[in-house]
Amino acid sequence: APAAVRSLETVELRKSFGGVHAVDGASVTFRPGRINALIGPNGSGKTTFFNCVTGMIKPDSGTVTYRGDDITGRAPHRIAAAGVGRSFQLCRVFPRMTVLENMLVGVRPEGLVHRLRGARNPADIAKARELLRRVGIDHLEASEARDISYGQQKLLELAGVLMTDPETIMLDEPAGGVNPALIGRIGTLVRELNAEGRTFVIVEHNMDMVMSLSDHVVVFDRGRPIAEGTPAEVQSDPRVLEAYLGI
Ligand code: ADP
Repeated sequence: APAAVRSLETVELRKSFGGVHAVDGASVTFRPGRINALIGPNGSGKTTFFNCVTGMIKPDSGTVTYRGDDITGRAPHRIAAAGVGRSFQLCRVFPRMTVLENMLVGVRPEGLVHRLRGARNPADIAKARELLRRVGIDHLEASEARDISYGQQKLLELAGVLMTDPETIMLDEPAGGVNPALIGRIGTLVRELNAEGRTFVIVEHNMDMVMSLSDHVVVFDRGRPIAEGTPAEVQSDPRVLEAYLGI
């Protein structure tokens, strides 16, 4: 089915650190057009899984496919070029660059030299300003990133991810460390971007956000999915309760 071909999919993905099976044979399908959430207790392998999918670390075995293409073990910029953008748990911005400069360094995924050359492109500058307006921090474009709030830095990071027009966006704890007002704004943005056709995969601890935002929830325990479904389905699933209680 076409929907399956277009999915971000892992098959039997594994990654160990020493004797720790951080990701232990995880087979997961994220369908296009959805806001997917990835949840699970601390240490269940969510971050490692995320890093394997986005090329930050190489899995020991298993495959990652995106729209039918095998992207397993590709470098992060090549995965980004294939259409999968990501944010980081501990927001990655360049603290001494301005907000606008931060938008422009992310624009050319091939390498820093190209990225900086891209900074002189008027079309990129116009796009950067439009996206800053969209996330509501355009008034801060001349501020150094270290001088804006952490929540604003997260909005900046999200705007930066959008510079490459990713079809699929992976967010690692978008609500972590962010005040409630900005969490609301991030949620609204995710909904709007999803309505425009972008797929999301979100690792998040804030259950209110997960349950109100996502269409599909995948629950990890011990390195692999143990349950999945709508927010209502996973909330009433005894396996999920057991995983969280550590029974
Ligand atoms: P989660 O994101 O669900 O909290 P992680 O993927 O961070 O889970 O961790 C899964 C397991 O792998 C944990 O036991 C963690 O201690 C271990 N782990 C993760 N990264 C490393 C690493 N770089 N070196 C050693 N162990 C790691």
